[in-house]
Amino acid sequence: MSDCLFCKIAAGEIPADKIYEDERVVVFRDINPKAEVHLLIVPREHIAGLNELESGHDALIAHIMRLIQPLALDQGLESGYRTIINTGKDGGQEVFHLHIHLLGGRDLPGFG
Ligand code: 5GP
Ligand code: ZN
Repeated sequence: MSDCLFCKIAAGEIPADKIYEDERVVVFRDINPKAEVHLLIVPREHIAGLNELESGHDALIAHIMRLIQPLALDQGLESGYRTIINTGKDGGQEVFHLHIHLLGGRDLPGFG
């Protein structure tokens, strides 16, 4: 998608503080962090959100899920972390390119 922010970051057209990338995924720091560690895990393929997932994405999603643990350990989050996927306008999604928030650190507030 030519006008998608996360496609442009994945392609290197817009700078970001990338901490990991491979042929399927890029991971970079959120520009407005909500915790000590706040990463965004983003597939290179443009998928608008959870509602647009198809069976053809299964291997990609498994790859992303299995990346979370080593990323968290690399960030020093041995004692725990939180993952969030916002979906749709009422779910708080602002960037319509699928991404997982990985949050951790001392200041993580309770959830409800
Ligand atoms: P959403 O609300 O869609 O789940 O999350 C979008 C996230 O992207 C927000 O936490 C926001 O701070 C982050 N974000 C928005 N624009 C940029 C940007 O240009 N660079 C980076 N690194 N993060 C961004
Ligand atoms: Zn995109």
